[in-house]
Amino acid sequence: MTRRLRFSHLPTPLENYPALDRMLGAEIWVKRDDVTAGAEAGNKIRKLEFLLGEAVDRRARAVITCGGIQSNHARATALLAARLGLSCTLLLRAGPEERAAPPEGNLLLDRLANARVRFIGAHEYSERDHSMLALAAELGRAGTPAYVIPEGGSNGLGALGYFEAMAEVRRQLDLGLAGDPPCFDAVAVACGSGGTAAGLALGALHWRVADRVLAFAVCDDRKSFELRIEAIVREGGQLLARAGHLPAPACPVDVFDEHKGPRYGVMNDEQLDFLVEVAQKTGLVLDPVYSGKALFGLARLEAKPPRVLFIHTGGLPGLLAQHAVLARRLTASV
Ligand SMILES: *Cc1c(COP(=O)(O)O)cnc(C)c1O
Repeated sequence: MTRRLRFSHLPTPLENYPALDRMLGAEIWVKRDDVTAGAEAGNKIRKLEFLLGEAVDRRARAVITCGGIQSNHARATALLAARLGLSCTLLLRAGPEERAAPPEGNLLLDRLANARVRFIGAHEYSERDHSMLALAAELGRAGTPAYVIPEGGSNGLGALGYFEAMAEVRRQLDLGLAGDPPCFDAVAVACGSGGTAAGLALGALHWRVADRVLAFAVCDDRKSFELRIEAIVREGGQLLARAGHLPAPACPVDVFDEHKGPRYGVMNDEQLDFLVEVAQKTGLVLDPVYSGKALFGLARLEAKPPRVLFIHTGGLPGLLAQHAVLARRLTASV
């Protein structure tokens, strides 16, 4: 197995908010992966510890990745690449108006980290893997070996970050940090490219944290995520086997796609009000693209497991980039 770099502040806290339990009608423990670090925080940093470890092992001098214009993954990659002294190119999906606007949220941090940003349209984005490989070949010919990280850092290697996160929760449960019994009925998480859900599936049962993962899709649909997650689980399982772990079979992942909202990155009014209510009653700030939709989906679940581990995956810069939408909703509610 490649060397894992250490960037995150671990273990992240495991917290219970009585007001949140009352809102949801279940016992919810929040794994605060929104505070894995400083500006680079969120779920992506756990994957990047493995992925950038491989990049360094392969003596890459540049990294290339992709995402939406407010990609948390792209931002974490840009900041960590700067830390490692690697150059970073980001292929970001954006419309003409977004490209012209002053950078905000994640894009502002990308710029601050001196990432090279290439905006691409939705059509070219569908060819992103090909474009990234072509760019890597071009950089290689120019004497800069480049390492390509797929969208969301979601492949077998990146998913190991969440296999390890489940080991971390196991230790917290053994210390009695999440009450009794020392396990959960399910792990719930937002799903955008499938790598986090896949890593959780590999780790949850293996580390006896839970025997079921609930993945709340924020784009695409249930069927496509089931296939993607299955492929990542297979790839991650092979890496674990090669490293001498004999993991228990991955646990089932239930994908829900009913609470994506109007479209990727956009919440409906009910979802926005939920995000605001959670903040006001608990001080916990969810993000409108991922964690807010996932917790909303969990709240709306008909047969809710009684004790759930909810992974707060971060995304604060994306919330700040939506200040106009939020400000409108806050004025509407007073
Ligand atoms: C990327 C991301 C997710 C989704 O994780 P995937 O592994 O891409 O499915 C969830 N929450 C936040 C805040 C993210 O940035």
